[in-house]
Amino acid sequence: MDIFPGRLYQAREIETTEGLTEIAAISKNKCFRCGNTNVKLFGKMSCASCEKDACIYCRNCIVMGRVNSCQKLYFQKTKRLPKIKEPLLRWSGILSQGQQKASDAVVSSLIEKKDMLLWAVAGSGKTEMMFEGMDWALRQGFRICIASPRVDVCLELHPRLQEVFPKNEIVCLYGDSDDKYQGEQFVIATTHQLIRFYETFQVIFIDEVDAFPYAKDPFLEYAVGKARTKEGSTIIITATPEKQWQEECAEGKRNFVKIPGRYHRKKLPVPRTCWIGPWKKNLAKGKITPKLIKWIKNVEMRDQPALIFFPEIDAMNKFADALENNGFSRPVTVHSADELRKEKVEWLREGKIKLLLTTTILERGVTFTDVQVAVFGSEGRIFTEAALVQISGRAGRKLSHPTGDVCFFHYGKTAEMKRAITHIQRMNQQGVVEGMLDD
Ligand SMILES: [Zn+2]
Ligand SMILES: [Zn+2]
Repeated sequence: MDIFPGRLYQAREIETTEGLTEIAAISKNKCFRCGNTNVKLFGKMSCASCEKDACIYCRNCIVMGRVNSCQKLYFQKTKRLPKIKEPLLRWSGILSQGQQKASDAVVSSLIEKKDMLLWAVAGSGKTEMMFEGMDWALRQGFRICIASPRVDVCLELHPRLQEVFPKNEIVCLYGDSDDKYQGEQFVIATTHQLIRFYETFQVIFIDEVDAFPYAKDPFLEYAVGKARTKEGSTIIITATPEKQWQEECAEGKRNFVKIPGRYHRKKLPVPRTCWIGPWKKNLAKGKITPKLIKWIKNVEMRDQPALIFFPEIDAMNKFADALENNGFSRPVTVHSADELRKEKVEWLREGKIKLLLTTTILERGVTFTDVQVAVFGSEGRIFTEAALVQISGRAGRKLSHPTGDVCFFHYGKTAEMKRAITHIQRMNQQGVVEGMLDD
């Protein structure tokens, strides 16, 4: 088996360790591979290779193959690849004003080897904002990685990026991917896969980082830091940075660029709120508030596709039952463990169904033309500011239908609901001020 520079290997994965640099897998109670230092996440076992009764191993990264304290990890240093003069990007599209601003900021951060937060509203066309930076980095001979906590995002990015960078072999790595790393210059990976790399990439883009609280996850931060070369740039892309980061941006402690406008220059739909009383009690009696029945009839009348988000599966199912009892046809429901998840999303996209009831799994990453959005029981704890901003961001994404109704049906307004609405209003105001929106 070949050894590819930048990838960490365990002895059993390779034929020979000759000529490779070695690092202790676990030392001073820290797992080198994943950064775990939590005593509770280390186990003890009787070990065949060191013959100790209590050889320590890391449980935190065990899904990637067990590492023991008697083991070493092996790697070969990466060398910079040759520079390329001709552009690699093959894309004939035109960046919007907001996208161009972001794209320029990305390129200058890469040139200056700085980290950056790219804070861009849902539907602003984030992928295109990375194109010029990627092209620049690849031509420098840099190794680049685009990582996301979500496999769905990686799978969607792969064909899109391969299309615009036809000359580059792009590999897509995730838990059970058929692709294996073979020294490719351009890597797409789940953030989890980053723990297999060591000082490999000069540039790492992290997409949809808020799907997984980055700052609250020390392992992820360690993995990104370890996979990147000491000098380089980490570009974090999100529509909804956590509160602490928003504050750091406001205080000038974080290099960031904010793109408040969508590519089609129309404002983000601002959510309405609608009080529906003790809905749990009512659902238990098989009742749905007339306000929501009216909302559903309205979208049916206008023949628009609609998404209704629920705080939990149980409420969603009871709602579906109640809707049926109220003379509607049985609505289609979807949740994370649903095997037909992808198909159901397609049904709505193709117009085979008009209404889809969902848990928060569809809060991001999906685009439906002219979709109308309701959040049922929006006071639920699962509906954080970030989740509600993302959900609202499903509406009005298309140039052909740049607006849409978003309504929070609630039994008591929460601070998160209020923050989500303010967040969207502020983005719209700033978009107008910066000339990114047609007022
Ligand atoms: Zn570990
Ligand atoms: Zn051992």
